[in-house]
Amino acid sequence: MISFSGVGKSFGDNHVLRELDLTVAPGEKVSIIGPSGSGKTTILRLLMTLENPDTGLIEVDGEPLWDCREGARLDAKKQAEVRRTIGMVFQHFNLFPHMTVLDNVTLSPVQVLGMSRDEAGQRAVELLQLVGLEKHMSHKPGQLSGGQQQRVAIARALAMRPKVMLFDEVTSALDPELIGEVLAVIRDLAHTTAMTMLLVTHEMRFAEEISDRVLMFDSGAVIESGPPSQILQNPQHERTQRFLKAVL
Ligand code: ADP
Repeated sequence: MISFSGVGKSFGDNHVLRELDLTVAPGEKVSIIGPSGSGKTTILRLLMTLENPDTGLIEVDGEPLWDCREGARLDAKKQAEVRRTIGMVFQHFNLFPHMTVLDNVTLSPVQVLGMSRDEAGQRAVELLQLVGLEKHMSHKPGQLSGGQQQRVAIARALAMRPKVMLFDEVTSALDPELIGEVLAVIRDLAHTTAMTMLLVTHEMRFAEEISDRVLMFDSGAVIESGPPSQILQNPQHERTQRFLKAVL
């Protein structure tokens, strides 16, 4: 579903990703762990076309999203179509503060997918039920707790019916007592949907519970990858052992 081949990305002299090869199978739930600044978020931002790679090829569901190989040309319209199959939940919710919860969830389906307001509204109510927030439909984001806002952000991403969902440290801006409710929603999604999920997380126990595979990332490269029980309980690489000792 997701494939990175030889992907490189630098910001000036900072070589964030180096010849990265990475694949995620359809329906697979993959967690990326690793130290801060190692390039984890950059992977998600490339998939959202918020950054462009310098080298390599990124494909989603067999279609090129980025192609920096010699002589390759990318069709912007096609890229936008591929990009639309991906949803992302950010660390800082990024909801529209002046709009109600319901409008936040219906906006893109209406404007981007051309769904009717009725259909988008109906679907939004279902999704807000799924994340336990149907009672808050007419509230503005500022009237909700951080955990509730993040659950709205999840509903909003799901409203676009993505094939792939990206989660970028979605609990790291939350007070500790609000983390559980957000993780519970993601855990339900992981266990009940066929969506492909790629998560950057510092919640090791959560990663262990919901992932098919964990990738340990350091300095722009995957240094160890495998089932969560292996990577988190019995890491082979010295860097992974050191990282886990520091965070657990
Ligand atoms: P992680 O998610 O593992 O913490 P990031 O992917 O956010 O790491 O960042 C990797 C490196 O790239 C960091 O050194 C960061 O400062 C740098 N970086 C990320 N985005 C930008 C940007 N837009 N401009 C300049 N440097 C950036």
